Amino acid sequence: MTPRRTALVTGSTSGIGQGIAEALARAGMNVVLNGFGEPAAIERQRAAIEREHGVAARHVGADMAKPAEIEAMMTRAIDEFGAIDVLVNNAGIQHVAAVDAFPVDRWDAIIAVNLCSAFHTTRLALPAMKTRKWGRIVNIASAHALIASPFKSAYVAAKHGLAGFTKSVALEVAQDGITVNAICPGYVLTPLVQAQIPDQARTRGVSEEEVVQKVMLAGQPTRRFIDIAEVAELAAYLASDAARSITGAMMSIDGGWTAQ
Ligand code: NAD
Repeated sequence: MTPRRTALVTGSTSGIGQGIAEALARAGMNVVLNGFGEPAAIERQRAAIEREHGVAARHVGADMAKPAEIEAMMTRAIDEFGAIDVLVNNAGIQHVAAVDAFPVDRWDAIIAVNLCSAFHTTRLALPAMKTRKWGRIVNIASAHALIASPFKSAYVAAKHGLAGFTKSVALEVAQDGITVNAICPGYVLTPLVQAQIPDQARTRGVSEEEVVQKVMLAGQPTRRFIDIAEVAELAAYLASDAARSITGAMMSIDGGWTAQ
């Protein structure tokens, strides 16, 4: 019998990451949660995963903008579980502003959290994956890894960077039993997207309802938000043995957005 695998999902105290952590626990993996939030709520989430799925769950509140904290998290997780078999780089932040008014600290934070953190977790996870000759890295990119929208220059730059990083690492480890893929969702209704609605309404000078219908879902041919569970199931599939020949792929789950 294969020993129990361990997954680490960055930014898994909310939204898509939380859904992915639950899907991987359901698939029988120990999970290391990461992300910010109210301590009691995070503890309830952690305990529920252990209770419902019979796996070990930990939470490490490392800030993905800080390489030293990422390193401490990875060391702690690998010391306890032997390896991170499935690494999901999901933590992400957004800021919407015209490029000539873009706050420099927001630019730096978006590049650090949405792009550089994946470099740090990946470089620290790979040695143990290579020893085990098995590993799965799933980078939660975005449709904005493939196409652009105005007023999101930092996010689009970081996600395009993450796509390139995914492909490059996939080639490096292709013969080590390790796959590296990106998931490119369209609009999923999570706290990150909810927070963008008033920002976009302000920037564009339109109502919040118009932002939802005429900006967000206008480009998504299905005209509905994607469910967190749909993205989580795709991540769980990419993390499975069955997906061993999928690597370096940009997996769109965007209701047809990038088909146009
Ligand atoms: P969310 O805001 O609901 O969750 C983000 C998570 O990241 C939270 O757990 C938060 O605590 C954590 N986080 C934020 N900054 C962090 C930091 N510095 N260190 C550690 N953790 C941090 O967001 P979401 O919508 O679930 O987005 C998750 C990922 O999916 C992001 O990378 C986002 O770019 C991507 N994505 C989202 C959508 C969408 O429509 N929601 C679409 C495409 C891609």
